[in-house]
Amino acid sequence: RSFEQFNVDESIIENLKKCGYVEPTPIQKQAVPILLEGRQLLACAPTGSGKTAAFMIPIIHHLKGPQKQGFRVLILCPTRELASQTQRECVRLSEGRSFRIHIISKINKALNQYGPKSNKKYDILITTPNRLCYLLKQDPPAIQLSNIQWLIIDEADKLFEEGSRSFREQLQQILQACDNKEKKIAMFSATHTPVVAKWCVRNMPGLIRVTV
Ligand code: AMP
Repeated sequence: RSFEQFNVDESIIENLKKCGYVEPTPIQKQAVPILLEGRQLLACAPTGSGKTAAFMIPIIHHLKGPQKQGFRVLILCPTRELASQTQRECVRLSEGRSFRIHIISKINKALNQYGPKSNKKYDILITTPNRLCYLLKQDPPAIQLSNIQWLIIDEADKLFEEGSRSFREQLQQILQACDNKEKKIAMFSATHTPVVAKWCVRNMPGLIRVTV
């Protein structure tokens, strides 16, 4: 199956080719059609299997039309390094679409940038849960997530493992802020982890699971 068969925007296909990607990796073959249909996903795919593009291709394709205030896509990563890597892939694959892709690097700057008075429109936020929750904990919250349509949780096994209880609490806080009823969640995990699967079954109706 080639990238053309995904039936996504021509600009995405061109960007994939510019990256030197010739054909989809196994996780991309499985995950892209599911996310294009707007289904919720738990994907078990090892690091380095091409999972970033597996969620970026459908997200970039979905992000059309008028924007409301705040962000439309939230990507949670366990580390800042992974967040930067994800941002680079996101920028490469969305070339020509002029998305506003943000990463929370300076917390003080972020406190002013995304608050309720900022009234700005953004597209994609890539962050660690710690930084995001710091903004959410401000009174009033220093970031607005009501317009999030897609929540992507990357390397979920790592996130749930790092003091698993505290991440679950953070995730609850984040989900409360992402209060758009139409929002979809896609979870990527490098290993089969019962605690991740259990969380998904409870919180993601209509979930589809894939493993590569
Ligand atoms: P990831 O699992 O997203 O960290 O991706 C691992 C590496 O594979 C990255 O360096 C990507 O640039 C690369 N990659 C992703 N998709 C493809 C593809 N379809 N063909 C070749 N390389 C890819």
